[in-house]
Amino acid sequence: MKKIFLFMLLCVASACAAGEVAVLTETPVAEFALPDGKVLKNAFVWRRNSEGLMIVHDDGQEFLNFKLLPADWRSAYGLDPSEAPANGKVERRHDQYLIYPILMKLKGLSPESYSFYTSKRYKGDADNLLLSGCALQSLLDENFSKALRLNEIVAERFPDDGRLELKDLFSVCERCKGEGIRTFACKACSGSGKCEKCGGKGTRAAALNDELVHCTFCRGSGKCPKCGGSGEQIVQCHECKGRGKILEQDKVNAQLAILVEELNAFQKAQ
Ligand SMILES: [Zn+2]
Ligand SMILES: [Zn+2]
Ligand SMILES: [Zn+2]
Repeated sequence: MKKIFLFMLLCVASACAAGEVAVLTETPVAEFALPDGKVLKNAFVWRRNSEGLMIVHDDGQEFLNFKLLPADWRSAYGLDPSEAPANGKVERRHDQYLIYPILMKLKGLSPESYSFYTSKRYKGDADNLLLSGCALQSLLDENFSKALRLNEIVAERFPDDGRLELKDLFSVCERCKGEGIRTFACKACSGSGKCEKCGGKGTRAAALNDELVHCTFCRGSGKCPKCGGSGEQIVQCHECKGRGKILEQDKVNAQLAILVEELNAFQKAQ
């Protein structure tokens, strides 16, 4: 306990000496000084969560714990300075739609926005943007069921604004023409469909006396046992993972960038 207190004192002292607090973002900076004076080279925010920021720098990683930040750092990072760090808990809004982990990944969402939208100060009035943004991010994460669910919630709660047309964000897979499967000639029979051991006759000459015997390989059917006589081998399309369609990432990213911009603007207007 004593140690923590001392550490916090030091934090405050160094921050005061440093004057204005520089806010680190996803864009790397050559030098970034922590509250304790330690300088990180080529630092940037790699990910953020409700507890703090994970910073990546030349010598590794550093977790900047919000709880341990001095007051001016807290306000610089958009955290409510009145939410006393001493009690160790920031008042979080209930994550009703389980989107906070998704929100954390939204490219370009400011730390202030993340902090605002997950705090009790936010009353849900931008949920249309928030849920739509998380639906798009879920598409990028290939969590399609989550994307659909979030989009349904938007449609239900905001019938006038309309939901995203998720299907417009996919194109038909050219590799499989939208089938999700691809057909190749069977390797065992080279596409003939005939049993390779008996040539399709169902019988073959015995090794010793040339007598015709039942072909055990195809059980006398004459059909290739690998493909059942179709001569085809059907495999799932690798390109689209069997979905028949491909997510158009550029389109998704473009729409997401607009939503994130609106989310940041909404937060600033508060
Ligand atoms: Zn395909
Ligand atoms: Zn075959
Ligand atoms: Zn055979």
